[in-house]
Amino acid sequence: MIKAEKIQILQSWNINHSWSLFLDRDGIINRKIEDGYVTSWEYFEFMPDALSALQIIAQKFNRLFIITNQSGIGKGLMTEQNLQNIHKKMIEILEQHNIHVNRIYYCPHDYEKETCNCRKPEIGLGLKAKKDFPEIDFDKSIMVGDSVSDIEFGDRLGMKLCYIGKMPFEDVPNLICFPSLLDFALHVAQIW
Ligand SMILES: [Mg+2]
Repeated sequence: MIKAEKIQILQSWNINHSWSLFLDRDGIINRKIEDGYVTSWEYFEFMPDALSALQIIAQKFNRLFIITNQSGIGKGLMTEQNLQNIHKKMIEILEQHNIHVNRIYYCPHDYEKETCNCRKPEIGLGLKAKKDFPEIDFDKSIMVGDSVSDIEFGDRLGMKLCYIGKMPFEDVPNLICFPSLLDFALHVAQIW
């Protein structure tokens, strides 16, 4: 998809400040650890340009949410407290850059041991966000992620979809693909 097409689709969504943005965490905000988990702050590394991208995004959207699968908890590789410590430090740095995240929602379950309704692509965490923030309108929301499960999650909730990475899908309506979060942010900044 060429730049003009992306701009055209973004424009057709009629995005404005009232919209909500849902972000995946690993691979979008911080580097994903392949075959592993960010179990403590020492393993947390922001993606290059993530802070610059989020600074632009935070000015454009009223509400930012992070939706993240953290099965390392269910597997016993980390505790909920470990995760909360990581998020506390991450939020501190984001706030220092004037990036306000309204809330982080995570699924702690190990999909190999139990089924749950909150592990993406299940929509439990999206519904929880809607309960906490009734002003969320999924029609006026974008899900940004780097996994098929992120896109399925957003699609099931009727959100618009942005995939960061090389397009693994064909012919999904309301889906745009960007090489990086910064590229997405710059496109958004160009339309309003
Ligand atoms: Mg991810």
